[in-house]
Amino acid sequence: MTRQYFSARRVLVTGGAGFVGSHLIDRLIAAGDQVLCVDNLFTGAKANIAHLLGHPRFEFLRHDICWPLFVEVDAIFNLACPASPIHYQHDPVQTTKVSVIGSINMLGLAKRTKIPILQASTSEVYGDPTQHPQTESYWGNVNPIGLRSCYDEGKRCAETLFFDYHRQHGIKVKVARIFNTYGPRMHPADGRVVSNFVMQALRGEDITIFGDGSQTRSFCYVDDLVEGLLRLMGTRDGFTGPVNIGNPVEFTIRELAELVIELTGSRSKLVQLPLPSDDPTQRKPDISLARAELDWEPSVPLRAGLEKTIAYFRQLAN
Ligand code: NAD
Ligand code: UDP
Repeated sequence: MTRQYFSARRVLVTGGAGFVGSHLIDRLIAAGDQVLCVDNLFTGAKANIAHLLGHPRFEFLRHDICWPLFVEVDAIFNLACPASPIHYQHDPVQTTKVSVIGSINMLGLAKRTKIPILQASTSEVYGDPTQHPQTESYWGNVNPIGLRSCYDEGKRCAETLFFDYHRQHGIKVKVARIFNTYGPRMHPADGRVVSNFVMQALRGEDITIFGDGSQTRSFCYVDDLVEGLLRLMGTRDGFTGPVNIGNPVEFTIRELAELVIELTGSRSKLVQLPLPSDDPTQRKPDISLARAELDWEPSVPLRAGLEKTIAYFRQLAN
């Protein structure tokens, strides 16, 4: 593994015991970095980092980033935030706090130590988009008072903070707008569509399609996302993003359900349930900027990524 992405020695990953964070840490450790993983284990799990606990270059700190943190590091990946709708709607005030107060604390740390900081933002900043596919210049179509707003508006405010710290204090910021990502170590009960469908298929339960299943998402395998995040952190000084990181191949939710049934060999039936409020009808990233600035594009097709994800959930179930 090369270290060409960036040359930090001590890397702080907030939310590092989560799904994406734990994969990112695996890459950083493999590249020779020292990693401080900070996580309050709200949705993350020690099991995701158990294989690293005795590693000499890995340290875990149980901490809520809504409280200040005084550590000495050379770069920050700020991933702490519940990401699935059922998790972020469980305590919506805390969800906004982690994006706003948590970001202020991490930006304060970056300001004091003069280090670069990357924010895990989201395609949710586009809301239910009226532009398709979504480019970074699109300002979005977001309900400020709905059930998803704690997450969407929290992440939008976090982006505002990142850009104001950049303009006001000269902090080197990198903002990634992450589109739906899936893979091993997703929480089996997080309610996200890939984990839900795979768990339901493996258990022979009905596959719950919300609405008529014609809404679309574009699914990125976690290894592709991590590669994009590392490349973004390694971009030239002055490049801030925001930059879309996602897989531009779009599927309807019904197509996803059918593929999961095919790959698991399940006899589960598809059933329709009401569509949750403010559920975006379509989502697909325009990744021209990521191609140009990061020389990045995803390489794992949905079928191949799902096979690995299904294998993970099968082994969890045993
Ligand atoms: P996840 O829930 O698995 O990971 C989030 C981690 O943050 C968990 O380990 C959780 O315990 C931790 N956390 C939550 N609140 C915290 C707090 N106050 N202090 C410290 N730690 C805290 O979710 P994920 O899918 O790995 O998402 C990681 C990041 O990427 C999130 O910021 C999310 O918004 C963003 N993102 C993910 C996706 C996706 O499809 N996975 C899409 C867009 C954006
Ligand atoms: N979805 C579904 N059945 C489920 C879980 C989700 O049909 O059991 C749908 C959901 O309504 C949405 C899409 O799948 O249209 C993606 O949902 P997810 O929660 O994974 O992510 P997000 O809506 O944040 O993109």
